[in-house]
Amino acid sequence: CGIVGIVGQKPVAPLIVDALKRLEYRGYDSAGVATIEGGRLDRRRAEGKLVNLEHCIQASPLPGKIGIGHTRWATHGVPNETNAHPHFSGDVAVVHNGIIENFVELRDELAADGYAFYSQTDTEVVAHLVARELKNGLEPEKAAFAALKRLQGAFALAIMFRNDDNLIVGARNGPPLAVGHGTGEMYLGSDAIALAPFTDSITYLEDGDWVVLRRSGVSIFNMDGKPVERKMQQSSATA
Ligand code: GLU
Repeated sequence: CGIVGIVGQKPVAPLIVDALKRLEYRGYDSAGVATIEGGRLDRRRAEGKLVNLEHCIQASPLPGKIGIGHTRWATHGVPNETNAHPHFSGDVAVVHNGIIENFVELRDELAADGYAFYSQTDTEVVAHLVARELKNGLEPEKAAFAALKRLQGAFALAIMFRNDDNLIVGARNGPPLAVGHGTGEMYLGSDAIALAPFTDSITYLEDGDWVVLRRSGVSIFNMDGKPVERKMQQSSATA
Protein backbone atom coordinates (compact mmCIF):
# COMPACT_ATOMS: atom_id res chain seq x y z
CA CYS A 1 0.00 0.00 0.00
CA GLY A 2 1.33 3.39 -0.90
CA ILE A 3 0.56 7.01 -1.67
CA VAL A 4 2.02 9.45 -4.18
CA GLY A 5 0.99 13.03 -4.88
CA ILE A 6 2.52 15.55 -7.27
CA VAL A 7 1.83 19.25 -7.80
CA GLY A 8 3.93 19.56 -10.92
CA GLN A 9 4.79 21.33 -14.15
CA LYS A 10 4.07 18.59 -16.67
CA PRO A 11 1.57 15.73 -16.97
CA VAL A 12 1.87 13.74 -13.75
CA ALA A 13 -0.08 10.49 -14.32
CA PRO A 14 2.91 8.56 -15.78
CA LEU A 15 5.20 9.95 -13.07
CA ILE A 16 2.76 8.87 -10.36
CA VAL A 17 2.50 5.34 -11.76
CA ASP A 18 6.31 5.07 -11.87
CA ALA A 19 6.55 6.28 -8.27
CA LEU A 20 3.86 3.78 -7.22
CA LYS A 21 5.96 1.00 -8.80
CA ARG A 22 8.74 1.96 -6.42
CA LEU A 23 6.31 1.23 -3.57
CA GLU A 24 5.34 -2.22 -4.90
CA TYR A 25 7.50 -3.82 -2.21
CA ARG A 26 4.88 -2.70 0.33
CA GLY A 27 2.28 -5.00 -1.31
CA TYR A 28 -1.04 -4.12 -2.95
CA ASP A 29 -4.07 -5.59 -4.70
CA SER A 30 -5.29 -2.66 -6.82
CA ALA A 31 -4.26 0.85 -7.78
CA GLY A 32 -5.52 4.16 -9.06
CA VAL A 33 -4.62 7.71 -10.07
CA ALA A 34 -6.66 10.94 -10.18
CA THR A 35 -5.67 14.22 -11.80
CA ILE A 36 -7.19 17.64 -12.42
CA GLU A 37 -7.14 19.15 -15.90
CA GLY A 38 -9.14 22.14 -17.10
CA GLY A 39 -11.31 22.19 -13.98
CA ARG A 40 -12.12 18.51 -14.36
CA LEU A 41 -11.35 15.81 -11.82
CA ASP A 42 -10.79 12.44 -13.46
CA ARG A 43 -9.44 9.06 -12.42
CA ARG A 44 -8.36 5.63 -13.65
CA ARG A 45 -8.45 2.62 -11.37
CA ALA A 46 -7.65 -1.05 -11.84
CA GLU A 47 -7.62 -4.27 -9.87
CA GLY A 48 -4.36 -6.18 -9.73
CA LYS A 49 -0.92 -5.13 -10.84
CA LEU A 50 0.11 -1.61 -11.80
CA VAL A 51 0.50 -2.77 -15.39
CA ASN A 52 -3.32 -3.02 -15.50
CA LEU A 53 -3.60 0.61 -14.42
CA GLU A 54 -0.97 1.55 -17.02
CA HIS A 55 -3.04 -0.13 -19.74
CA CYS A 56 -6.13 1.84 -18.62
CA ILE A 57 -4.16 5.08 -18.82
CA GLN A 58 -2.69 4.18 -22.22
CA ALA A 59 -6.17 3.38 -23.57
CA SER A 60 -7.65 6.53 -22.04
CA PRO A 61 -4.97 9.10 -21.15
CA LEU A 62 -5.22 11.13 -17.99
CA PRO A 63 -3.89 14.66 -18.52
CA GLY A 64 -3.20 17.09 -15.69
CA LYS A 65 -0.21 18.58 -13.89
CA ILE A 66 -1.52 17.71 -10.43
CA GLY A 67 -2.47 14.28 -9.23
CA ILE A 68 -2.68 11.70 -6.47
CA GLY A 69 -2.10 7.96 -6.75
CA HIS A 70 -2.55 4.91 -4.58
CA THR A 71 -1.74 1.26 -4.25
CA ARG A 72 -4.37 -0.44 -2.09
CA TRP A 73 -4.06 -3.26 0.38
CA ALA A 74 -7.74 -3.90 1.05
CA THR A 75 -8.87 -3.86 4.66
CA HIS A 76 -12.57 -2.99 4.15
CA GLY A 77 -14.21 -4.20 0.94
CA VAL A 78 -12.94 -6.66 -1.65
CA PRO A 79 -10.13 -5.72 -4.04
CA ASN A 80 -11.95 -4.48 -7.14
CA GLU A 81 -12.11 -1.34 -9.27
CA THR A 82 -15.01 0.24 -7.32
CA ASN A 83 -13.18 -0.09 -4.03
CA ALA A 84 -9.86 1.09 -5.47
CA HIS A 85 -8.78 4.61 -4.57
CA PRO A 86 -8.97 7.55 -5.33
CA HIS A 87 -12.46 7.95 -3.89
CA PHE A 88 -14.49 10.96 -4.98
CA SER A 89 -17.23 13.02 -3.39
CA GLY A 90 -18.32 16.09 -5.32
CA ASP A 91 -15.19 18.17 -5.91
CA VAL A 92 -13.00 16.10 -3.58
CA ALA A 93 -10.62 13.21 -4.31
CA VAL A 94 -8.99 11.13 -1.56
CA VAL A 95 -6.39 8.37 -1.29
CA HIS A 96 -5.82 6.65 2.03
CA ASN A 97 -3.55 4.07 3.60
CA GLY A 98 -4.63 2.61 6.93
CA ILE A 99 -7.97 2.12 8.67
CA ILE A 100 -10.57 4.68 9.76
CA GLU A 101 -11.72 2.99 12.99
CA ASN A 102 -14.88 5.09 13.42
CA PHE A 103 -16.00 4.78 9.80
CA VAL A 104 -19.30 3.00 10.62
CA GLU A 105 -20.43 5.86 12.83
CA LEU A 106 -19.29 8.43 10.24
CA ARG A 107 -20.90 6.50 7.37
CA ASP A 108 -24.25 6.36 9.20
CA GLU A 109 -24.06 10.08 9.93
CA LEU A 110 -23.19 10.97 6.32
CA ALA A 111 -25.77 8.59 4.86
CA ALA A 112 -28.43 10.20 7.07
CA ASP A 113 -27.23 13.51 5.62
CA GLY A 114 -27.91 12.26 2.09
CA TYR A 115 -24.43 11.14 1.01
CA ALA A 116 -24.44 8.05 -1.20
CA PHE A 117 -21.74 5.42 -0.77
CA TYR A 118 -20.40 3.72 -3.86
CA SER A 119 -17.67 1.60 -2.28
CA GLN A 120 -17.39 -0.77 0.66
CA THR A 121 -14.29 1.00 1.95
CA ASP A 122 -13.74 2.84 5.20
CA THR A 123 -12.00 5.53 3.13
CA GLU A 124 -15.05 6.91 1.34
CA VAL A 125 -16.24 8.65 4.54
CA VAL A 126 -13.19 10.91 4.31
CA ALA A 127 -14.14 12.16 0.83
CA HIS A 128 -17.72 12.83 1.96
CA LEU A 129 -16.64 14.56 5.19
CA VAL A 130 -14.39 16.96 3.28
CA ALA A 131 -17.06 17.55 0.60
CA ARG A 132 -19.63 18.33 3.28
CA GLU A 133 -17.33 20.91 4.91
CA LEU A 134 -16.77 22.51 1.47
CA LYS A 135 -20.52 22.61 0.93
CA ASN A 136 -20.85 24.30 4.33
CA GLY A 137 -18.64 27.06 2.95
CA LEU A 138 -15.18 26.25 4.28
CA GLU A 139 -12.11 26.84 2.13
CA PRO A 140 -10.45 23.61 0.93
CA GLU A 141 -7.66 23.58 3.53
CA LYS A 142 -10.06 24.33 6.37
CA ALA A 143 -12.52 21.74 5.08
CA ALA A 144 -9.77 19.13 5.08
CA PHE A 145 -8.68 20.06 8.61
CA ALA A 146 -12.27 19.94 9.90
CA ALA A 147 -12.67 16.46 8.37
CA LEU A 148 -9.34 15.23 9.77
CA LYS A 149 -10.47 16.17 13.27
CA ARG A 150 -13.36 13.69 12.93
CA LEU A 151 -11.14 10.72 12.08
CA GLN A 152 -10.04 8.00 14.49
CA GLY A 153 -7.60 5.30 13.53
CA ALA A 154 -4.55 5.06 11.35
CA PHE A 155 -4.14 7.04 8.19
CA ALA A 156 -1.88 8.52 5.62
CA LEU A 157 -4.03 10.67 3.34
CA ALA A 158 -3.75 12.80 0.24
CA ILE A 159 -6.70 15.02 -0.66
CA MET A 160 -7.22 17.02 -3.86
CA PHE A 161 -9.84 19.62 -4.83
CA ARG A 162 -11.32 20.04 -8.32
CA ASN A 163 -11.38 23.83 -8.01
CA ASP A 164 -7.72 24.21 -7.09
CA ASP A 165 -5.08 22.65 -9.32
CA ASN A 166 -2.34 23.94 -7.06
CA LEU A 167 -3.26 22.19 -3.81
CA ILE A 168 -2.84 18.79 -2.20
CA VAL A 169 -3.58 18.35 1.49
CA GLY A 170 -1.71 15.47 3.15
CA ALA A 171 -2.05 14.03 6.64
CA ARG A 172 -0.27 11.44 8.70
CA ASN A 173 -1.36 9.47 11.74
CA GLY A 174 0.32 6.08 11.68
CA PRO A 175 1.35 4.99 8.18
CA PRO A 176 4.40 6.89 6.90
CA LEU A 177 4.17 9.97 4.70
CA ALA A 178 6.93 12.24 3.43
CA VAL A 179 7.07 15.53 1.56
CA GLY A 180 9.51 15.91 -1.34
CA HIS A 181 10.77 19.37 -2.27
CA GLY A 182 11.29 20.19 -5.93
CA THR A 183 11.83 23.39 -7.90
CA GLY A 184 8.41 24.77 -8.67
CA GLU A 185 7.07 21.30 -7.95
CA MET A 186 6.21 19.49 -4.73
CA TYR A 187 5.65 15.84 -3.94
CA LEU A 188 4.05 13.61 -1.37
CA GLY A 189 4.95 9.95 -0.93
CA SER A 190 4.86 7.03 1.46
CA ASP A 191 8.65 7.06 1.52
CA ALA A 192 11.75 8.69 0.05
CA ILE A 193 12.28 5.73 -2.30
CA ALA A 194 9.06 6.60 -4.14
CA LEU A 195 10.18 10.21 -4.54
CA ALA A 196 13.83 9.51 -5.42
CA PRO A 197 13.33 10.06 -9.19
CA PHE A 198 12.08 13.59 -8.42
CA THR A 199 14.06 14.85 -5.45
CA ASP A 200 16.35 13.88 -2.57
CA SER A 201 15.15 16.76 -0.36
CA ILE A 202 12.69 15.08 1.97
CA THR A 203 10.69 16.12 5.03
CA TYR A 204 9.35 13.18 7.02
CA LEU A 205 6.01 13.91 8.63
CA GLU A 206 5.23 12.96 12.22
CA ASP A 207 2.00 11.52 13.56
CA GLY A 208 -0.61 14.25 13.86
CA ASP A 209 0.95 16.36 11.10
CA TRP A 210 -1.06 17.63 8.16
CA VAL A 211 0.31 19.60 5.25
CA VAL A 212 -0.73 22.08 2.61
CA LEU A 213 1.26 21.36 -0.54
CA ARG A 214 1.51 23.85 -3.41
CA ARG A 215 4.02 24.30 -6.25
CA SER A 216 5.68 27.05 -4.21
CA GLY A 217 6.25 24.88 -1.14
CA VAL A 218 4.71 23.23 1.89
CA SER A 219 3.18 24.38 5.17
CA ILE A 220 2.98 21.86 7.99
CA PHE A 221 0.45 22.02 10.84
CA ASN A 222 -0.49 19.99 13.90
CA MET A 223 -3.96 18.87 14.91
CA ASP A 224 -4.44 22.13 16.84
CA GLY A 225 -4.06 23.90 13.49
CA LYS A 226 -0.74 25.42 14.60
CA PRO A 227 2.25 25.58 12.21
CA VAL A 228 5.05 23.14 13.07
CA GLU A 229 8.65 22.93 11.87
CA ARG A 230 9.99 19.67 10.48
CA LYS A 231 13.56 19.36 9.25
CA MET A 232 14.33 18.83 5.60
CA GLN A 233 16.77 15.97 5.05
CA GLN A 234 18.91 14.77 2.15
CA SER A 235 17.70 11.27 1.33
CA SER A 236 20.20 8.68 0.13
CA ALA A 237 17.51 6.64 -1.66
CA THR A 238 18.64 6.02 -5.23
CA ALA A 239 16.51 6.93 -8.20
N1 GLU B 1 -8.67 0.83 4.49
C1 GLU B 1 -8.56 1.28 3.14
C2 GLU B 1 -9.22 0.32 2.19
O1 GLU B 1 -9.48 -0.80 2.53
C3 GLU B 1 -7.10 1.55 2.74
C4 GLU B 1 -6.27 0.31 2.66
C5 GLU B 1 -4.80 0.63 2.34
O2 GLU B 1 -4.05 0.95 3.28
O3 GLU B 1 -4.39 0.52 1.19
O4 GLU B 1 -9.52 0.67 1.08
